[in-house]
Amino acid sequence: MSAIKQEVAPLELFPPLQPPGRYLFGPGPTMVDPRVYDALSKPIVGHLDAYFIQVMGDIQQLLRTAFGTSHGATLVISGTGSAGMEAAVANFVEPEAKFMVFANGYFSDRITEMAKRHAAQVVRFEKPWGETFGDDEAAEFIRREKPKVVAYVHAETSTGALQPGTAICGAAHDVGALVIADCVTSLGGLAVDFDQTGIDVAYSCTQKGLSCPPGLSPMAISSRAMDWLRARTSLVRSWYLDLKLIHDYSTVSHRYHHTAPISMFYALREALLVIAQEGIENRWERHRRCHQVFVKGVEAMGLRLHVPVGYRIPTLNTVGVPKDVDEAKVRKRLLDEAGIEVAGGFGPLAGKVFRIGVMGPLATEENVQFFLKEFSRALTVEGYSI
Ligand SMILES: *Cc1c(COP(=O)(O)O)cnc(C)c1O
Repeated sequence: MSAIKQEVAPLELFPPLQPPGRYLFGPGPTMVDPRVYDALSKPIVGHLDAYFIQVMGDIQQLLRTAFGTSHGATLVISGTGSAGMEAAVANFVEPEAKFMVFANGYFSDRITEMAKRHAAQVVRFEKPWGETFGDDEAAEFIRREKPKVVAYVHAETSTGALQPGTAICGAAHDVGALVIADCVTSLGGLAVDFDQTGIDVAYSCTQKGLSCPPGLSPMAISSRAMDWLRARTSLVRSWYLDLKLIHDYSTVSHRYHHTAPISMFYALREALLVIAQEGIENRWERHRRCHQVFVKGVEAMGLRLHVPVGYRIPTLNTVGVPKDVDEAKVRKRLLDEAGIEVAGGFGPLAGKVFRIGVMGPLATEENVQFFLKEFSRALTVEGYSI
């Protein structure tokens, strides 16, 4: 074995951070309001300081409006959206419990994978990527399978499809099951309607519809689910994601569980305030309007959306790649020449769709027109004739 000589690299090789300017028109992370960047630079206090406890309380309150819940508990997991997903699975799935997943995209596959690791007995209702589940077929499947927990993805970021949850929640409650809804992409950009839909456990992230940097996962938990959790006798297999401990720390005793990432909580509080000041319904409406402008624009270019009208996520569009166009080259050109980031498809949709987010500060008619102009130019240079 040869000894590895450790040389100290000259510091000139590490210039000050100067990230390139980007228009984040992808599925996330999305653009961050300057007020949120300011919040990130505020001095930290101790994580058990009364000031920080107040910040956590403010966030819980502001989250109620965003999720659409008056009776549910809201809290924040220190981790990205996937941490919220894992918290939902770890806490509400006991080993051997029957866990039903509506599987129509990448993130329902991730939920499946987590449920298997938590030793659930998983049953899946599968559909091709981009399709959604009808009320009757969803309810029938649940009544037949009688699961203990049902999971679906409200806004499936890998396909652009929006899954309504009311029929799923109704049927699940009829058989005594709890419902987990992945609201990672929907929260902040469109109505989640937690109470009205009947969701028991919802998790999200900060870097998509909330226009905040990545790092936290807001959750909402119904009183039914809280009662179920309190009655659970088997230990949750994840200590870090144990919601009873986190709920106690963040809303009841404020006793140390883990050191919350203070600066990210500041950022989330500010992002939620930016949203509250606009008015959450105005924000949803702004996103809906921009979605319509976007769809009209791409259709005028002869392009088609992957998801049928009525089932589209207004904030995340999957646009079919035209024949004979290399989507990776279009994306590279957009990034290099206009500083625009969009995403491609993956899994069964690899090479077939662009995933284009119109969210947060970018959701204005002017920005959509700017995007359409650059998109049309990049496509044309790559051989598409409009
Ligand atoms: C992004 C996303 C996740 C995962 O969130 P991370 O913040 O990347 O961990 C889960 N579900 C959906 C629907 C998503 O879009």
